[in-house]
Amino acid sequence: MTVSNHAQRALRLKVDTQALANNWRVMDRLSGAAQAGAAVKADGYGLGIDHVAPCLLDAGAQQFYVAHWSEVQPLLLHAPADSISVLHGPVSSEDVIFARETGVRPVINSLYQARLWLDSGGGLCDLMVDTGINRLGLEMEDISAPLIRNLQIKTLMSHLASADEDSAMNDRQLRRFRDVSTVIPAQQRSLANSAGIALGADYAFDQTRPGLALYGGVPRLELDGLIQQVAYPQSVVLQRRRVNAGESVGYNGSWTATQDTEAAVLAIGYADGLLRCRAGSTQIRFDGTELPLLGKISMDMIVVDCSRCPSISEGDWVDIEQNLPSTAQKSGLSQYEILTMTGQRFRN
Ligand SMILES: *Cc1c(COP(=O)(O)O)cnc(C)c1O
Repeated sequence: MTVSNHAQRALRLKVDTQALANNWRVMDRLSGAAQAGAAVKADGYGLGIDHVAPCLLDAGAQQFYVAHWSEVQPLLLHAPADSISVLHGPVSSEDVIFARETGVRPVINSLYQARLWLDSGGGLCDLMVDTGINRLGLEMEDISAPLIRNLQIKTLMSHLASADEDSAMNDRQLRRFRDVSTVIPAQQRSLANSAGIALGADYAFDQTRPGLALYGGVPRLELDGLIQQVAYPQSVVLQRRRVNAGESVGYNGSWTATQDTEAAVLAIGYADGLLRCRAGSTQIRFDGTELPLLGKISMDMIVVDCSRCPSISEGDWVDIEQNLPSTAQKSGLSQYEILTMTGQRFRN
């Protein structure tokens, strides 16, 4: 368990590194003969790269995926350059120079990016082919382009659009990816994200790219019971107060006390990712006892009823429930959004 903490912090995030390591090993095992890498973009899905990268390396991950070039430097403090791929690929010659200087691999996503890379001298890269998501990636009609033949490709990859559903799209993308691999030579192939791994061995190829499931997300029922919660947010109690019967709490007075109520003010709000749509679905607990939310969620504060916890006092730490599958289901947010919105203020 590592805790991002600072003397002046009123929010902290416990990252259960044992659970994180367990989740990586589960995804690696489910990947069969393929090796699991790790998607660590967006600061390790919001948990802090300094907390997740060393743990994933220890567990055995040897390949890391970030989205932005700006995410490389913080990861290089933990992982070797040749284990890092940058998914967005180069959009300028500065990006290419940066890739060469650091030794990390660009993921080439288009003929434009292929030309940028080759014009600078080329070398080992990855290639993302779009087999149906129509997001980022080389279009199918370009896979035979001479430029692509000149690339020296470590990992040929594609990304599934609907792996979290039983969609005909999965099989269609699988077949297209197999076709692409007969045309484009590469050292290894990679198709599956977390949900894709749960689709079975056909989708694993040589390397898998789990993200969400490493951090406690459960994108498909096959993973239920195997994946452990990793992130545990906590807030400090800023103030204890009494709300007299007939008084209301918070903006617009949306909650009114029917009897005198003991309340606690916590230092967390929607700016920290506790969006108002989570009001009815996020339990707040002190020592396991639930503290019902009173009134609206503010930007940096909430007020809770602590009548059942007479001993709670200013400076105490309170748990903000963040079980990803259930919080997502109840709030309408995606598990990805809940994780990555965990604000900067949680980190050190
Ligand atoms: C984010 C990402 C992943 C990881 O996906 P999860 O659904 O979080 O497991 C894998 N591959 C690519 C290309 C990605 O962008």
